[in-house]
Amino acid sequence: MTKLTKHRPREALDADAFVEAVQAVLDYLWEDEQRHHSEQDSADQPHIFHSLQVIREWLSDLRAEARQVEATEPSTPAAQTASTVKNEDGVGASRKITLHEGDCGTYTIEAEDGRTMLIQTDWDYPGVASIFGWRPCPCGETDGTVDCPHRTASEMIAEAGEFLNDHIGDTAEDPGYFEE
Ligand SMILES: [Zn+2]
Repeated sequence: MTKLTKHRPREALDADAFVEAVQAVLDYLWEDEQRHHSEQDSADQPHIFHSLQVIREWLSDLRAEARQVEATEPSTPAAQTASTVKNEDGVGASRKITLHEGDCGTYTIEAEDGRTMLIQTDWDYPGVASIFGWRPCPCGETDGTVDCPHRTASEMIAEAGEFLNDHIGDTAEDPGYFEE
């Protein structure tokens, strides 16, 4: 049993080695190229740093996928949930946010580590409400802040506000409010 899980197929080994090599090259180039990029300051010249960013994104996707595959292997304890696996090193981490009532008709959202963010303007209601499951219009043509053929923005903003009132204390996955 232990032998089987340790002895991985050749293909998998090669893929691991490849990913490690790309990561090493990336780490090696990252800081320098990032500095060059911010010094360069001209948008019409494609810079190598953009390519590095693309590679890094692709790499982190690949690793998240690999972890999910590992998580579904029978040797992994069943108690390990998908979210703890994803949180292992913060790449593609999923964090929870909680909706709270603020002062004077405002709302706050709180991260798991205690950081909070104030939701102050009506225009933010549709975006926040969407995170907690609200849908502006079934047509999908609006995010709730612009009119669609069926509904006006003010109508949807008001509805989003009511939705938030009804969902104080709810938690949802952070779509990126508290990303560092
Ligand atoms: Zn519509």
